[in-house]
Amino acid sequence: MKNPFEKMPTVLTADELIDKAFRRAEKAASAYNPPGGKVAKARQREELRVRTVSNVVRDNLRKILDRTPGVSTLPKFYQELVDTLVDRDQFHKSLARVNWAVKTIRNLEQRHVEKIRFERDPKEIAKLRRAFYGRVADILHEIDDDLRYLNQARNVLKELPVVDLELPTVVIAGHPNVGKSTLLRALTNARPEVASYPFTTKGINVGQFEEHYLKYQVIDTPGLLDRPLSERNEVEKQAILALKHLGDVIIYIFDPSEYCGFPIEEQMHLFEEIYSEFGEFPFIVAINKVDIAEDEKVRTVEEFVRVKGLEPVKISALTGEGLEELKNRVIEIVEPKARELAKKIMEKELSKFREGL
Ligand code: GDP
Repeated sequence: MKNPFEKMPTVLTADELIDKAFRRAEKAASAYNPPGGKVAKARQREELRVRTVSNVVRDNLRKILDRTPGVSTLPKFYQELVDTLVDRDQFHKSLARVNWAVKTIRNLEQRHVEKIRFERDPKEIAKLRRAFYGRVADILHEIDDDLRYLNQARNVLKELPVVDLELPTVVIAGHPNVGKSTLLRALTNARPEVASYPFTTKGINVGQFEEHYLKYQVIDTPGLLDRPLSERNEVEKQAILALKHLGDVIIYIFDPSEYCGFPIEEQMHLFEEIYSEFGEFPFIVAINKVDIAEDEKVRTVEEFVRVKGLEPVKISALTGEGLEELKNRVIEIVEPKARELAKKIMEKELSKFREGL
């Protein structure tokens, strides 16, 4: 799936939009040389100005409405993320007020054009047009805060991470420097930081791999699943909630070499937190850096994990040791979902093919 707000246009401020519409109207009017006498000419020119201003403004505003998806129609993952970024209520209210402006300007246009058509005095005709301009400017100023809010919202919403919501997804967790991104790169085609993630400064890492023609997605979210709950703010907690709509399995990484800078006791503590937070998820524990870790420490972690009823996989993300086994463990858990998706895609292609016959 693409970023759902990808097509949302830049939202001009009231003054920018007024300026744009009035300039367009002047340009159109000066290029227009209608037939007829003085009154007829004035009427047609002023009508053209009114229509042009109305069209430019309404097209501009309608584009915002048409290209902004309704938040409640989005998949849950994106709904949760939108809530971390914007006040959904305010967002909807602002859109509703833009809609109100479109309708009101349309009505004013009709009314003023009618009056212009009946007026016989060129001065009065110009006055009617000026009155229309004034009303349009008032309406736009009235929704200026909404326009500004929508533009701000657009700028952050465009930064939402682009992930494939249908693919079976593995989420990697563990302290900083335990080897999460190294593992991601080793397992997948990921380039570092392919998608931005507005809740952390580092961006989200997304990669995919294929096995037996089935596709899987792996995600590493720096800043979210790498430190204790008490250190996470509200926005981060919400973003973690969003991850729950995305992930199918968690790989938790330990670094028994402690080169990451966190003693194994601390790593165990974080594991407990994430394990209970994601209680409903299948967990795979990977003990990383076995190429440099002391056996003693590796064993301690192993025993700790086994007590939880889990069998850890020993790996080195750097040398590749144990990665096949880790991949197999992932596939074992999520293959049914991958198969189902592949079947769905195949059926869709087949029906397209049949329609073409
Ligand atoms: P992240 O912060 O969890 O994403 O950790 P990184 O993937 O950036 O890894 C932190 C450091 O550990 C880097 O210098 C990696 O090269 C190193 N590293 C990662 N995995 C291994 C491993 O299996 N063995 C060794 N020796 N170093 C590793």
